[in-house]
Amino acid sequence: MATRQTQTYLRALFDDRGIAPRRALGQNFLVDLNIHDTIVKTAAIEPGDVVLEIGSGTGALTALMAGRGAAVVAAEIDPAMAELTRESTAGLPSVRVLHLDALRNKNNLNPLVLDAVQAALAAAQGSRFKLVANLPYHVATPVIVNLLVHPTLCPELMVVTIQRELADRFCALPTTKPYGSVSVLAQALADVSIARTLPPSVFWPRPKVDSAVVLIRPDPVKRAAVGDVAWFQEVVRRVFLHRRKSIRHALSAMWSDHWTKTDVDAWLALRGLSGQLRPEALDAEEFVALAHALGDVKRTLPSTAADED
Ligand code: SAM
Repeated sequence: MATRQTQTYLRALFDDRGIAPRRALGQNFLVDLNIHDTIVKTAAIEPGDVVLEIGSGTGALTALMAGRGAAVVAAEIDPAMAELTRESTAGLPSVRVLHLDALRNKNNLNPLVLDAVQAALAAAQGSRFKLVANLPYHVATPVIVNLLVHPTLCPELMVVTIQRELADRFCALPTTKPYGSVSVLAQALADVSIARTLPPSVFWPRPKVDSAVVLIRPDPVKRAAVGDVAWFQEVVRRVFLHRRKSIRHALSAMWSDHWTKTDVDAWLALRGLSGQLRPEALDAEEFVALAHALGDVKRTLPSTAADED
């Protein structure tokens, strides 16, 4: 049964179980009854969807999505919460609760999570894969980025509640303060927007900062233009290591044995770019073009030189 999760309900439930919210695990539960509905509507949850929910907590959103006909893979690290998710979704055969850390490490999702998603997709021909979650703040970036760049299991849609500051980074435009590697990566591979901002008062316990529901719609056309996603990610990462310096500096540091700053200036000029530009001045499309051009250079280098930096 879907529980209408309010602060009163949660306090009573936690008292009964002798547990308390664990700040270190990002346990801020949504207690505004409308927000779960907004998330479900924004994600257009319907039969045929396979939803990955990372951080299912008490299972309120899980049950709501399963009630709409979705198959849900719910991953939860806290054993008490995993148990509560199981209770909230008892009798809903389309829900699979995994008690585990959704990440194997910063750069990889837990393979058991991916296996469970793959199995759910295989069980329902033609189903759509979505990530829908109120993400714990400390794993939000790696979860989103790892799924976005995943070669075979990139969701069709992500609707995620994250800290406002991070949401702003995903949506930021060039030359603005929040613009960085996450903005470039997300915008090169997907359409990204903030569906709704959320004040601390919609959570219990209240976080110190605002949050936002973010809509990320991966775009197959953009992905095809990027081509080698791993290389693109590598270029963006390396260039933004030198965010406060010029592009010339970033590129010469990339392969210092291969070219001097003067060579880099000439190479950039051929592409209509000034070496004085800072990485944050390039938009996602310009990064895509830069990565392709750098890929051509890389192919001319001996393999040891290509891995410099
Ligand atoms: N889904 C609930 C809601 O909407 O109210 C709870 C969301 S709460 C922000 C985040 C949840 O993620 C917590 O239940 C926490 O235990 C869980 N969590 C934290 N780190 C995790 C990880 N690495 N893997 C899986 N779950 C995690």
